[in-house]
Amino acid sequence: MSLSPRAFAALRAVAATLVGGGAEEADLATRVGGHVAALPRAADRAELDLLLRLFESRVVNLFLAGIPRPFSAMSPVQRERYLRGWATSRLPPRRKAFQALKRLVMVTHYTTPGAGGRLAYPGPLGPPPSVPKPIRPLSVTTDTTLTCDVVVVGSGAGGGVVAAQLAARGKDVIVLEKGGYHNEADFTQQEGEGLERLYDAGGLLATRDLSLVILQGATLGGGTVVNYTTSFATPESVRDEWAREHALPHFRGPEFTRSLDAVAQRIGVNTDHAAPSGRDRVLIRGLERLGWHHGLLPRNVRGCTQDDACGYCGYGCRTAAKQSTLVTYLADAVAHGARIVVNCDVRRVTLAAGSATGVEARAQGHRLTVRSGAVVVTCGSIHSPALLLRSGVSLPALGRFLALHPATAVFAEMDEAVRPWTGTLQAHYSDQFADLDHGYGFKFETAPVHPSFLALAAPWESAAQYADRMARLARTALCGILLRDRFGGRVSVDRAGSPIVDYRVSRYDAVHLRRALASAAELLEAAGAREIWPPLARWISYKPGPARAREAWLARVDAAGRGANQLLLVTFHQMASCRMGASASTSVVDPEHRVWGVRGLYVADASVFPTASGVNPMLTIMGIAHRAAGIIALSH
Ligand SMILES: Cc1cc2nc3c(=O)[nH]c(=O)nc-3n(C[C@H](O)[C@H](O)[C@H](O)COP(=O)(O)OP(=O)(O)OC[C@H]3O[C@@H](n4cnc5c(N)ncnc54)[C@H](O)[C@@H]3O)c2cc1C
Repeated sequence: MSLSPRAFAALRAVAATLVGGGAEEADLATRVGGHVAALPRAADRAELDLLLRLFESRVVNLFLAGIPRPFSAMSPVQRERYLRGWATSRLPPRRKAFQALKRLVMVTHYTTPGAGGRLAYPGPLGPPPSVPKPIRPLSVTTDTTLTCDVVVVGSGAGGGVVAAQLAARGKDVIVLEKGGYHNEADFTQQEGEGLERLYDAGGLLATRDLSLVILQGATLGGGTVVNYTTSFATPESVRDEWAREHALPHFRGPEFTRSLDAVAQRIGVNTDHAAPSGRDRVLIRGLERLGWHHGLLPRNVRGCTQDDACGYCGYGCRTAAKQSTLVTYLADAVAHGARIVVNCDVRRVTLAAGSATGVEARAQGHRLTVRSGAVVVTCGSIHSPALLLRSGVSLPALGRFLALHPATAVFAEMDEAVRPWTGTLQAHYSDQFADLDHGYGFKFETAPVHPSFLALAAPWESAAQYADRMARLARTALCGILLRDRFGGRVSVDRAGSPIVDYRVSRYDAVHLRRALASAAELLEAAGAREIWPPLARWISYKPGPARAREAWLARVDAAGRGANQLLLVTFHQMASCRMGASASTSVVDPEHRVWGVRGLYVADASVFPTASGVNPMLTIMGIAHRAAGIIALSH
């Protein structure tokens, strides 16, 4: 659905106001309109159209802003005041509406080729290498039925490992992946293209109220292709907790240790590739000056150059140093005869007499039916529960307990040229506050900051103020915050079967979040920051120096609020929405990964975590999938 003419007129005016420059941004609005039309949920598309039409209503504007004119007929000063009012409104729906428009317009604007020039951001560092594509996915040219022993839905951290392990044991395996097949030759380092090709919903997925941006890979190899290569083993304390509190003793035992070791070896986990980036140097300096914990991050890379180009690997690693499932487990699976279908959206698992019999999918414009002895669902923690719900599985815990590791950051303007888009993706971390209460707390890490990320994070108060902040990108550092959340959210599906994610930071977790913001500011101050600011809806910064400047700033941050769409929150780690447990009333899969009450149906991705892992989850997912494959191989 494209926007109605009236909505489009409003969008042009909104885009021009947000970006500034006077001229109505027809081209930008057209591109944003294209993103709106590509949103996965019809309800979201309709809501944006309605919102924009309301912007053009004299009556609504008189009531909300005291200006009896369509938005597009307001003066530039009125328009900025109007949008600022929505950004910082006490009414959550107005803040949600503002964030929807700001994210769409600003991310589109700053990811347009050439936009980086204004920010001293070079964009792509050269053309991608011309390398062949070693995997030959099946093409589906007509309605098709295939048969196999095991069909694996999804090809990320969980799916890749399961497929390879089963194929190596002689099973006839088919992998179905919603995303396309992109390898080094496709990694253009162009942000817009990277988001669109490699991320779910082009990076625009969010919770229902837009308070949390959901980043997850959607390409052959899933999240392992775009992720930041941090490869922590599951902490002993978390393994104990899962064994003890969820009646899952295997997490503590040697079998799981063997699986973790096996996957770590296959994906080359090591700490020899932790050369600090400009961002890491700021983080380390602050940690050392404060005497706080810091350590080297283990990473799954082989021959990583750790140079400027590495900062672009969130859009795929051009040298294949990143040991994603694309270059490891999926290659192994294919070598053992597995078949792979990409651009294949699995709509439901077929069930008969209490058993899974296969799946039905839309693949490359055709209907694809797969009949199989077993179905392994590994679509990630948003889409795995959605697929089970669409398939008619009904369990009280299904979709519940979703953990997201809410992430945010405190940003700083530095004297030095940080060039935060360059260097090792993540090299150092701190666990200084990781265990504030029973293993709950937060980690500090960094992440590459390209224009799209700063565009998301920077508060908008006027076009000029925002453009000025963006222009400081090269001197921007950050202290990234990764919260281990104790209380989760929920995935449900709409009438079309698309996932809807509801999540609210609990009061318990909010206490840790506040502590994290304060401590991150303290760290950046110790590192020599000139000005420090959090990604709030309003601009609240401080310049270190005067006594108690940080305390005064924190009081202003508290007053501004950290509710929905007041503080930017992003999730890179989705977990626990089909959790494993000892009973069908409190979990979705049993200790052997079987969906309670359905024979031949398994889940083997991050969604089976009993709780948030507290560390970046990839290695834990792979270890779990490795063990699951052993179990499935014995039964099918
Ligand atoms: C930018 C970024 C950085 C990250 N950095 C790190 C890091 O440094 N370390 C770390 O440990 N973790 C990191 N993560 C998280 C990590 O990558 C994920 O937790 C992990 O990949 C999840 O594994 P999974 O198997 O659960 O799902 P995924 O890897 O997300 O795989 C699921 C796959 O299923 C496909 N799919 C979904 N629905 C369907 C359907 N209906 N039909 C067919 N296919 C479907 C998806 O397209 C996707 O490819 C990062 C994530 C992101 C987005």
